Amino acid sequence: MSVQAWQHRSMAKGKAKHEARLQEISLLGKDLARRAKQRCELCGGKGDLRPYDADPNQAPTMSSIALFCADCRARAEGRDDPEAELRFLEGAIWSDIPAVGETARAMLGRVDAGWARAALEML
Ligand SMILES: [Zn+2]
Repeated sequence: MSVQAWQHRSMAKGKAKHEARLQEISLLGKDLARRAKQRCELCGGKGDLRPYDADPNQAPTMSSIALFCADCRARAEGRDDPEAELRFLEGAIWSDIPAVGETARAMLGRVDAGWARAALEML
């Protein structure tokens, strides 16, 4: 098989895998919406709510998926916002939903502020 044919085949495989995962996540959509009550599970906002996949290496479950707004999805992917806009993390780090609590703790760890360090020390 040529390199190109091999590349094409592995790309098609990757795409099929990605689509199967989106399908699995969409099956959790109803339970997720019920749990989140149409609010972002991190900040409580209502803008463009979509499932966030906190652990892409495991099969998606209600523990690894959370409903996040567009801002929180961007923050989870590494966007750093002014610390004053991130105070909701003080409460979110205590969430008993792993996808919410772990994401909040990771975000809070990037916040360079006294209140953020104090909140993490309380855990
Ligand atoms: Zn949010």
